[in-house]
Amino acid sequence: GRRSESTLPDVAERTLVAVKPDGVQRRLVGQIIQRFEQRGFKLVGMKMLQASEDLLSQHYSELRTKAFYPSLLQYMTSGPVVVMVWEGHNVVQTSRTMVGPTNPVEARAGTVRGDFSTHVSRNVVHASDSPEGARREIQLWFQGQELVQWDCCDQHCLRGA
Ligand code: UDP
Repeated sequence: GRRSESTLPDVAERTLVAVKPDGVQRRLVGQIIQRFEQRGFKLVGMKMLQASEDLLSQHYSELRTKAFYPSLLQYMTSGPVVVMVWEGHNVVQTSRTMVGPTNPVEARAGTVRGDFSTHVSRNVVHASDSPEGARREIQLWFQGQELVQWDCCDQHCLRGA
């Protein structure tokens, strides 16, 4: 039978956030990490790498037919990226809100894109758009043993029952 929400096991939600090559070049990595830390999310994986075209074509497989796809691949391979896995209550949706809309024209001040970008083709950061998408992307970018299970000392202060 259905159990009420408060008795469901607290399976922590995870999302993939990436600082794109422009964000790394502009030295925004620290500020972006800080926003997720101060919001109350838990970092469970992080690495810097030069993404391959193969990896990116899988990551952006749904965009393969778009006119901007070739320039997107060029942008995303133009330098290193910093990819992170963040964990916490509603982390997928909350991260999207923190990152802001795809097009910086629509992104309000206070969002990453609203504070740091002007053009959709250089929008600084990626965040998964759904829990399913997050699972797919985390598997694509990380090996299982690269994700760290640890207890945050303040985890009980960060959510209600
Ligand atoms: N993008 C672009 N031009 C567009 C739309 C998207 O260059 O007209 C790039 C942009 O970097 C965006 C990425 O493609 O972040 C992926 O697009 P998506 O629609 O998945 O947006 P996101 O989930 O990143 O907000």
